[in-house]
Amino acid sequence: MPRYKRALVKLSGEALMGSRQFGIDPETLNDVARQITQAHDEGIQVAVSVGGGNFWRGATVAETGMDRATADYAGMLGTIMNALALQDALEKAGATVRTQTALPISQVAEPYIRRRAIRHLEKGRVVIFAAGTGNPFMTTDTAGALRAIETDCEILLMAKNGVDGVYDADPAKVPTAKKYDQLTHIEAIQQRLAVMDITALSMCMEHHLPILVFDVAAPDAVFHALRGDRIGTIVTASPEASAAGGS
Ligand code: UDP
Repeated sequence: MPRYKRALVKLSGEALMGSRQFGIDPETLNDVARQITQAHDEGIQVAVSVGGGNFWRGATVAETGMDRATADYAGMLGTIMNALALQDALEKAGATVRTQTALPISQVAEPYIRRRAIRHLEKGRVVIFAAGTGNPFMTTDTAGALRAIETDCEILLMAKNGVDGVYDADPAKVPTAKKYDQLTHIEAIQQRLAVMDITALSMCMEHHLPILVFDVAAPDAVFHALRGDRIGTIVTASPEASAAGGS
């Protein structure tokens, strides 16, 4: 039996990039869509918050001299491109999908309406949340945390690109870095571990929302994460909550 009734997957833009340097790798996109559809077919209600870092990162672009808020709005548009690509791939995989955006763009997607999103989930539609929070200086990690809490998801599944959990140091730089199987929100914050941005992490802590950090590139990882299988690192309010599966 799947452990979660309703879960939100945070898909970074990089998670859709595969081994490319930019944009979307169609094979990776289709594989993620297949896994989400498969988990959904097992009765799990799935919401997705998509990033846009494969196209544009506001903070990085601002370093070249562009106004930061303007660069961030452009970044949010990047997330809408990913959302449309994911919507298409999910529909081709057999799912019914609704995309809701935090920035109104009525010709291409619904606006974000919380109660409507919940209704879609109850009716068995995969809901994609695009355009982050709709505010500059924020990230799609924060949007993922916010939407997961708003729509009563039991867990936030952080699909990472190239790292299979939370480590006590950067495993790409420190060969002896140790991976955590589980830790608490407060430990992650105090040790400044690379789980997600601090705004998102504090929000999850305050609302006791468990987070699973896992490698999107591992075989069927999104499917396993959605089923509540023990992969990656689980971040919970207390060690007891982790032993109980995070919910
Ligand atoms: N962004 C923003 N507000 C939000 C979410 C995203 O301004 O609520 C912008 C920001 O410029 C960010 C870009 O959109 O760099 C892409 O989002 P993010 O970096 O979170 O994507 P990911 O790293 O998950 O691919």
